[in-house]
Amino acid sequence: MNTRVLPGIVLWLCCALATAAQVSATAAGTATPHVTAIKAGRLLDVDAGKELRNQVILISDNRITAIGEALAIPAGATVIDLSAMTVLPGLIDCHTHLADGARDPSGDPLTYLKRTAAEVALESVPNARLTLESGFTTVRDVGVYRALTDIALRDAIARGDIPGPRMYVAGAYVTITGGAGALTGASPDIQLPWDLRYGQADGPWQVRAVIRKLANNGVDHIKILSSGAVLEHGSNPNSQEFTMEELRAAVEEAHAFGLRVEAHAHATQGIKNAILAGVASVEHATMIDDEGMALAKQHGTYLDMDIYDEECIEEDARHGTIPADFVQHDAALGQIQRDNFHKAVAAGAKLSFGTDAGVCPYGVAARQFAFMVQYGMTPLQAIQTATKNAADLLGHGDVLGSIKPGKYADIIAVQTDPLQDVRALENVSFVMKDGKVYKQADAPR
Ligand SMILES: [Zn+2]
Repeated sequence: MNTRVLPGIVLWLCCALATAAQVSATAAGTATPHVTAIKAGRLLDVDAGKELRNQVILISDNRITAIGEALAIPAGATVIDLSAMTVLPGLIDCHTHLADGARDPSGDPLTYLKRTAAEVALESVPNARLTLESGFTTVRDVGVYRALTDIALRDAIARGDIPGPRMYVAGAYVTITGGAGALTGASPDIQLPWDLRYGQADGPWQVRAVIRKLANNGVDHIKILSSGAVLEHGSNPNSQEFTMEELRAAVEEAHAFGLRVEAHAHATQGIKNAILAGVASVEHATMIDDEGMALAKQHGTYLDMDIYDEECIEEDARHGTIPADFVQHDAALGQIQRDNFHKAVAAGAKLSFGTDAGVCPYGVAARQFAFMVQYGMTPLQAIQTATKNAADLLGHGDVLGSIKPGKYADIIAVQTDPLQDVRALENVSFVMKDGKVYKQADAPR
């Protein structure tokens, strides 16, 4: 919270939104950190892969300072009793689209032309809130059609104006003209506004130019589209889009700005090209073959496979709310991706948790855990993809991904043991982000 002196009414409004702990610290006008103590009945140590019993977590402002079984709770600390629950690190979804406005599976390009960027950003506010309240305290948001709305959302959350997860954003899709990240489906003689074609680039130097602009705009990573897409008119998930030369230029340019790159790729060759170019993760990785799997392991590339959202695509198809060409692109791909996920687990590939949130309604991302278990993971492995692995993929393992001293106080709790039944994560009872409580169900159901 901003610590500068505020006029009375502003201070009151501000404090009404803050926790009691923050209120007392602010009202006293001191810089003394407030201490919160969480009593955890079970605590999942995702690094060690084991559950600890009856732990106390001490939090000073927004950071975890100590964890232990017999820790003394300092006088004046706010005590949160989660002794009947399982406590684990805040979850991280590495593939979301929170800032494209209200979910709309219609594929109608007109929906993007009927709304201003301001409307899109404000429509995205509930997406962020639902995501946080479902236990995801951090997201890697991997692209928007109307450029830079994700930066607006990220920054509004970071300022505390609206509730939402900590966001790491891409700013736009870096895509070939008419490709997987382009807004397609309009008549060819329509000139789209600048922010609906911001990331289109053909040739290595255009790719570099787009990435330079995005870096200057303050993005956290770069999203490139290596192959065609499912939910895109005139694109084809089987096709390669960017060339090797363009992909290499993208990664080199992004790295020059200290930015990691994730590549959308369904197609077998598009996946391999992205890995060889040096991306941090391949998104979807639908038609990855054995050679691609071996390359991913060799290069330490994460596979970020959204194996739940097929359920939502099929449901939209049943209801006729998704265009016929999208359904056609999708045929058989869902099962192929799930089978390849199973192979990737068996092969020991690095896997992160990404759901393509926005394909499904917001707030249901945790449903993917059960599918990960169904397709070969233990519950612990599935949880690790959304905690320690995800933090590592983001390059922020020092502050995210586990409950450890020095890390951000991003902590959730569930009523039952997710190592016994991972679907416990579909009903998160307690959410703390950055030391602030956003959700707290009082009694076990
Ligand atoms: Zn996506």
